[in-house]
Amino acid sequence: MKTSAEKNMWQPRIQSAIEKQREKDRYRHRVECQQQGSTIDIIVEGEAYLNFSSNDYLGLAHHPQMIKAAQMGAQKYGVGSGGSSHVTGYSEPLQQLEATLADWLGYDAAIVYPSGFTANQAVIKLMIERGDHLIADRLSHASLLEAAMFSEGRLYRYKHNDLRSLESYLQKVAVFETEIEQLEITDSKAELSRSNHEPSMASPHLNLVITEGIFSMDGDSAPLEEIAALAHQHQALLMVDDAHGIGILGEAGKGTCNHFGIHPDILVVTFGKAFGCSGAAVLMSQALADYFVQFSRPLIYSTAIAPMQAAILLAAVDIVRGETGMLKRIQLQRNILYFKSNFQKRMIAIESMLDDPSNLEPALPYLLESESAIQPLIIGKDTDALRLSAYLKDAGIWVSAIRPPTIPPNTARLRITLTADHTKEMIDHFLDALEAGITDLAINRAQSVSVIAE
Ligand SMILES: *Cc1c(COP(=O)(O)O)cnc(C)c1O
Repeated sequence: MKTSAEKNMWQPRIQSAIEKQREKDRYRHRVECQQQGSTIDIIVEGEAYLNFSSNDYLGLAHHPQMIKAAQMGAQKYGVGSGGSSHVTGYSEPLQQLEATLADWLGYDAAIVYPSGFTANQAVIKLMIERGDHLIADRLSHASLLEAAMFSEGRLYRYKHNDLRSLESYLQKVAVFETEIEQLEITDSKAELSRSNHEPSMASPHLNLVITEGIFSMDGDSAPLEEIAALAHQHQALLMVDDAHGIGILGEAGKGTCNHFGIHPDILVVTFGKAFGCSGAAVLMSQALADYFVQFSRPLIYSTAIAPMQAAILLAAVDIVRGETGMLKRIQLQRNILYFKSNFQKRMIAIESMLDDPSNLEPALPYLLESESAIQPLIIGKDTDALRLSAYLKDAGIWVSAIRPPTIPPNTARLRITLTADHTKEMIDHFLDALEAGITDLAINRAQSVSVIAE
């Protein structure tokens, strides 16, 4: 039941926002899944689909060892932590998980948060004070950009993976450093932050460079060696969000930073992707960890992850860095290569059917250059992406269309993800449907410019 306040105050606002979403073909649904499947069969509205949208890259969500860890964890510890880690929530498996992660990834300390979104907010909220600068890749995840936008610092977004753009911002903020800014904090936001810790106005401003290891929507990796060198040269700190690289790249799955041989000041890893579960950890120095334990509000005022979840994640770390992880990574790489090379063959077949494919407006869909499990198929128009997604759905394949504002305008895409558990037959079936769907789209576009070969 709507209260009159809701009716009068909120309704107009809500209505116009939602109407705009619909007009732009951006209305979002949460699809109800009866079964997520071991990355393979997703059951939606009673229908089973082959899943090519899962971030469960290694198929761990349903791995027997993970399920066993969950059962044993629940038996031993129950299902909840009972409080924040500052009260009753700092369980033995959670301590062990933090120690294991720190040791594995080569840091003094790890602090676990319930999600990657929270972890990113926590880092930026705590580290960035007024006068500081955040220099983030333009395509950084919403959790990073949102935290940066609402932080007290000034946000600069450099062009995606563009070192010259990054450097120009690093030079620009260096100029600010020399100016003495008069700070007068009077607003209530500052009061709130001051109630917990005094902004350290005496210390020099901090510049924080932010990038992802592998980008969630484009699937490409950041030139981390060069970025780390630039940050170092300009005395900026570096934060890497490796949500999609951890468990996949590097020695024994240590992630993108290990792969490129760098050690960022802050490394965020998340457990909702290759680890098949959920949660996140921030890897850092001991000094920073002490600071976080004192002042990180999302840590202090939020219920710690359940000990059983920590036990599951410990099992995940074991699997990821062990032989199973290695074999799954090899299989995943095979699947990626198989999909990419065969997709190109299918596209050549489609193009040969058209008189002059370059006439098509907009052009045919194409895969972004990516070596990772994320293979974005760029379609362009939102409606076309939805159309292709629906076509695949009819063929029993689940691939979500991703539309702005998650990604830049006119780059609506299917975010295809491959996992270690996909078989060759499954990928072939997917490619058949994709070829038919793209042909359908091409014919539809060609009819308006008539480039179909006789
Ligand atoms: C998924 C993701 C997150 C959010 O992590 P959750 O644990 O799902 O909240 C943060 N950053 C990137 C790059 C991601 O892909």
